[in-house]
Amino acid sequence: MDRLLVVGAGPKAMAVAAKAHVLRELGLPAPQVIVVESHAVGGNWLPSGGWTDGQHRLGTSPEKDVGFPYHSTWTRGRNRAINEAMLAFSWTSFLVERGAYAEWVDRGRPSPQHYLWAKYLQWVARKADIELVLGTVRKISAAADGWLVSVIDADGVVTEIDTDRLMITGPGNSRRALADHPAVLSIADFWDRAGRRQLPVSSRAAVIGGGETAGSVVDELVRHDVLSIVAISPAATIYTRGESFFENSLYSDPARWRALSIEERRDVVRRTDRGVFSVRVQENLVGDSRVHHLQGRVVRVAGQGEGVALTLRNERRPDQVHTFDLVVDATGGQPLWFLEMFDADAADLVELAIGGPITHARLEASIGHDLAVMGLETKLYLPNLAGLAQGPGFPNLSCLGELSDRVLVAAPVRTGSGARASAATLEK
Ligand SMILES: Cc1cc2nc3c(=O)[nH]c(=O)nc-3n(C[C@H](O)[C@H](O)[C@H](O)COP(=O)(O)OP(=O)(O)OC[C@H]3O[C@@H](n4cnc5c(N)ncnc54)[C@H](O)[C@@H]3O)c2cc1C
Repeated sequence: MDRLLVVGAGPKAMAVAAKAHVLRELGLPAPQVIVVESHAVGGNWLPSGGWTDGQHRLGTSPEKDVGFPYHSTWTRGRNRAINEAMLAFSWTSFLVERGAYAEWVDRGRPSPQHYLWAKYLQWVARKADIELVLGTVRKISAAADGWLVSVIDADGVVTEIDTDRLMITGPGNSRRALADHPAVLSIADFWDRAGRRQLPVSSRAAVIGGGETAGSVVDELVRHDVLSIVAISPAATIYTRGESFFENSLYSDPARWRALSIEERRDVVRRTDRGVFSVRVQENLVGDSRVHHLQGRVVRVAGQGEGVALTLRNERRPDQVHTFDLVVDATGGQPLWFLEMFDADAADLVELAIGGPITHARLEASIGHDLAVMGLETKLYLPNLAGLAQGPGFPNLSCLGELSDRVLVAAPVRTGSGARASAATLEK
């Protein structure tokens, strides 16, 4: 049987597993989906995942759930049945089952707190009866006709799983910080200490990053005893994610995306996704005179007594040095985090497919319609890198239903010699 292994049990894994379940129930072909998760289903939306305290709210509507936009393009003649069956996994079905739907509507359809979103994902996992392997993916190797994935569990037991196709999700490590200094906190340290009300006492705090991760941190810091909070990002200002129809429609429906030039696509992402705080976070912060923005890329972090000096670089301007007594590294995920799991042969295969050493730019340009790396015989799906090539909604929660269609529709080419054949070519 065709097998698809997904690293990480977040929304993308749930979307693909639920759609595969629905396809099977309708008698349509679907791979066996195995999800490997180091922590818990929806782990990155729980305080223990290190990206949130679980109390902050989703920036996007929860109706952008695992089936959204309910416009299946999987197969002619059966799409309506697929859409209807997927509605059983929707956010509103979750609320109906919990008896909470009317209250949610009457309260004006609020965005749920992150922990509740994790509960929704766990409900999807149970309902779709997903095959979950609890453990951490440590190593990914090229196998005879697919990938060999080594998983280590909490007791240190290593299991090797053979898979035809592989999908990587998630942002990587939340414990990484820009510098090893007691006044510099990783995002995980920050949420851990904020939850215990044990943030270091500070008068001048800096939050590095202009995205949703940084937005949540600033939104939390204003509730603590801090004299000033500076958000540092390379853009001229911090934009608000507009959430207008015109902006959102590009996220929900990527059909028009490929008609745009690369410059136009970068422009949309820059204005709507990168360096952007959600409307709600902006509304919370606008009245707080302690919050400011500083433009620049942090190029140097130096300890200065108990505090830290940050050097900020802007083109055509001299570097500036600012000191802080608390710095939070909220720059967000590392797009290529998964490469540290790839052994040399597996990395060689990717290099061969993308035509040179692995860089962010090369990989994101190589993502095909099915969200996999083009030119790689054994499927490697990288939806988090699909924004530029395929649509800005694929890395986030904006079109999980479309994502699952794209991933599941493509049956892998089974030559029997798959990844190894390419490896042999490389060695010549
Ligand atoms: C604070 C915050 C708020 C956000 N709010 C929004 C929002 O409102 N709307 C939106 O569209 N996007 C939002 N995002 C972006 C969000 O990250 C993505 O939209 C989405 O969660 C990504 O889903 P995912 O399935 O790729 O991964 P995740 O939900 O991040 O799941 C990845 C999973 O992989 C697991 N894992 C990691 N490494 C391994 C390993 N080696 N082996 C096994 N398992 C592993 C983790 O434990 C985790 O459970 C937010 C991000 C942050 C940080």
